[in-house]
This record gives sequence, C-alpha cells and structure tokens, in this order.
Amino acid sequence: MLSLTIKQVAEKLRQKQLDVVELCEACLERAKKIQNLNAFVCLTEDSFREQSLKSRERILKGKDASILDGISVAVKDNFCTRNIPTTCASQMLKNFTPTYNATVVEKLKNAGAILIGKTNMDEFAMGSGTVDSIHGPTKNIWQSHLEYKLEQKGPGGETVTLSPNDVSRGSKAFSEGDWLIAGGSSGGSAVAVASGVCFAALGSDTGGSTRNPAAYCGVIGLKPSYGLVSRYGLIPLVHSMDVPGILARSVDDAASCLGVLAGHDHKDPTSVDVPLEGILQEVGKEPSSGLSGVRIGIPKEYHCPGMSPDVVDTWKEVADALSRGGAEVEEVSLPHTKYSVACYSVLNQCEVASNMACYDGIEFGIRSAENISTEEMIASSRRMGFNEVVRGRILAGNYFLLKRNYQKYFEKALKIRHLITKDFENVWDSGMNFLLTPVTLGVSPRFSEFSTKDNREQCATQDYCTQPVNMAGCPAISIPIKLSSEGLPLSLQLIGRIYDDGNLLKVAKWIEDAVNFPRLVMD
Ligand code: GLN
Repeated sequence: MLSLTIKQVAEKLRQKQLDVVELCEACLERAKKIQNLNAFVCLTEDSFREQSLKSRERILKGKDASILDGISVAVKDNFCTRNIPTTCASQMLKNFTPTYNATVVEKLKNAGAILIGKTNMDEFAMGSGTVDSIHGPTKNIWQSHLEYKLEQKGPGGETVTLSPNDVSRGSKAFSEGDWLIAGGSSGGSAVAVASGVCFAALGSDTGGSTRNPAAYCGVIGLKPSYGLVSRYGLIPLVHSMDVPGILARSVDDAASCLGVLAGHDHKDPTSVDVPLEGILQEVGKEPSSGLSGVRIGIPKEYHCPGMSPDVVDTWKEVADALSRGGAEVEEVSLPHTKYSVACYSVLNQCEVASNMACYDGIEFGIRSAENISTEEMIASSRRMGFNEVVRGRILAGNYFLLKRNYQKYFEKALKIRHLITKDFENVWDSGMNFLLTPVTLGVSPRFSEFSTKDNREQCATQDYCTQPVNMAGCPAISIPIKLSSEGLPLSLQLIGRIYDDGNLLKVAKWIEDAVNFPRLVMD
C-alpha cells in the first residue's frame, strides 16, 4: 500500500478497504527501515500518530477535509514548522524552533495531511546533491542496500514485475562507503516519496532543487509558477526565484497538492492573485482532443556538452511520442541559455549575501562564546554557524555588491536575466505552448564521483537545464520516463508559460501515461 498514489489511497480509505491508523503505522515502520538513507532529519512520530486518529474519525464520519486527509507528507527542513525544529541543515539554525507554520505547512494541515517528519537538504538549500548538510548526506534508494522490485502496468492493465534481467544492477550499484546521490537540494524529500514513507513532500526550488532530486529518484517534481504558492515561512535562499516545490508519485497527486497549496497569501508580498479556477480546472482532466493544437518546442541550446547519450535518446523518443500523439513538435532557440549559469550564480550570491546578513548570533542564529568585542562575536558566530559553501557565497555576493562592482556584476546580471526571460517570452509569442528538455545531463552519479567537484562546479552542471526557468518564473515539471542501461531513472522536464500550471500538468499526465515508468515497490 505504500507504493500507491494519493488518488488510489484516498479511494481505499473512503471505501474502508484501508484504515488511516494502520496506514500511518506502516509509513512509520518504513521510515525506520530506510533510516540509513538519512532522508529525514527528524520524525514527528507522536503528533503523526495523534493526527492519524483524528483523521480516521473524520473519514469514518464522511467529514474528511480533502483528498489529502490521512495522507502522510514530509516537509523539507527549510519550511518553518510550529514547535518542530527547522534547521536548514545548518549549524546556524540548529537550535531554532519556529513558533509558526509556513503557509504551505498550514495549508497541508488544514487539508488533513499528516506530517511524518522534516527532510534533509543541502545547507540553506545551496547545492545539488544533498551532500552538504550538518545531518550528513542523503543516499538514493535506487541501488541502495535495500531490496526493492519494480512493477509496471502490463498491456491489459495488469501489474507485471520486471525481471532482474530487465533491471540490470550495473556498475553503479551500491558498495561499502559509496552510494548514488539523491540529488539536491531537496534530496530528503525525494527519497522519502520514492521509498514509500510518504505520498508527497515539499521541497523548494530556486534553480532546480525540486526537479533535480525528483529526476534522480524517479518521482514527479513540480516547480509551480513563481508567486502561485506562498513563500511565507520558507527560509529564503533567493527571494526573486524561490518557490515551494512538490514531490509526488504521479502527476495527478502533484496536481492535488497544488490545488491545496496554491493561492494568494497576504503574508507573502510576492504572492499573486491569479484566479485559481482557471488554472486548476485543467488539472486532472484528460486532454480533450489528444494533443492536437498543442505546440511543443525543443530548445536546441539545452543539448549541451556532457549530456549522456541515454538522455539524448530519451529526449528524442518522448518528442517523437508527443508528435505521434498529435502535438506539433519543433526545434526552437533560447539564445541566452548559455549565460544562465553565470548570471544565476551572481544573482544568487548577491541575494545570499543580503539574506544571510540577519544571522549575527544576536537576533538570529547560534552565538559563539567569543567575548572580546561584539564584532568578534558576530564574526565568530558566522564562522561557526555557516559551512564553507554559504560563507563563500556571502563573500562573493558582497564583492559583487561593492559600490565599484555593482554595475559590472549585479546590474549586468539583472540585464542578462531580463534577456533570458525574454527568450522564453519570445518562444511563447511564436506560438509554442510548452518546452521539452532534459532535467539533468545523466543518471544519478555516485557520491565518490560527485564529490570530486566542488559545490559551485556541481551546480553549474547539475542546474544547466533547470535554472533558466527560475529566472523567468515559469512552471516546470520533472517526469520520470524510463530506466537507463544501468537500471536507473531517466527523467525529462516540461516547461510552460507562467500561470499555465494547469495545462502543463495536463500534458505532463499525457507523457506519464505514455511512458509507463515502473514503480519502485519494497516489501
Ligand atoms: N543548486 C542551486 C544552488 O545551489 C539551486 C539550489 C536550489 O534550487 N535551492 O543555488
């Protein structure tokens, strides 16, 4: 039952074929079974059990709050949770327990979803591997030491188990002291969903942090349009690009969560007031006339050096399938894509320098015992509290923001961001409805391989296909497509126009149905 989707579980709960309390116990047991993957930084066991009893009562009385009632969910550790520590995987916040819930956490709660725990991440969401955390790295479930099988829908709708020959455990298999990374920075959330501990999880996405781990763990990763989902209570990385992301096991489930989470919030000044019905009425509906009239662009600049042949083939296969399905698929150009990595890194570091300034050990963050002077105390608290990655970004950001550098770096990066955004607008204006691209350049790398490059170099490669959309605010979704020759998930990204999240999900669902990606099942 732990590998079912929310839609399937919700139905079983209401038909009394499944009991919420039993389901929740199974989730907790699974959480303990996968403990070595280090996906969770804490489990909220007591309140989880308590809530499951309340949910059972509501469902039995037919008074459930929503489709998410009784559904176990996890939340990345950079969303504030009332009375539950929120560390951002950083020493700086290791003693921080918020007194309030992030809006998205509150909305999940009001919808009846039950929080099972907080998930691991790269410190302050700076990374693409979930390897830089005070809680230690998160490991991928795929080819881990845990046993699982892969099931797929057969031609007549029946469930077939893939034979071990179809799922070769290639050279990447887990070995002592090494593992496949979960992707990042929301790696804990992706592993939690992939391994059956919860049915959906919140991640955050500034440059790809929801889509990247979703791709490596074989689950759906949705980055909604900027402003559609409130950021209130999400500890900021880059205010102008952050969005709460959704990790789930199916497109329908991601849509159900978006339905609960989206909406204007007066507590977030960047949250938008778009009429939701327009967006959400599209969700969950089958495309009425197949894909006819749908135009999908294949941006040639996304075919970049270092992309694995497996990824290129998958990209081509899905483009062909869409075209056979009635869509018009054509090559398009987003000429400023190649500047995106450099531009993102300048803007990111400038915003980081500003956002991290509040952690002084006085008002916010841990305080060192240094007592020579206030300045020394602040400096040593920040040295103690932040890892090298965060400190490096603060230094670089402050350098870019110096009076003598401001125009040369920050202003220039803003101008380039505008050109990147304009690239997207131009393709939409030319009649395209969506763009199809890879998410990552290959399958999940081993930790030993990943850690030969530093955080900056890794982000430049890992985020190549994902971060341009964060500059433009467009919605994007990572969809698992097929297994690679090593038996690992290969995923693709579908990008849509801003606030066209509903239609994006509709076409994503078409792709999901067409590719029949196997689901991972553990006993
Ligand atoms: N890897 C990127 C960074 O470190 C993106 C992170 C994210 O999306 N949170 O900035």
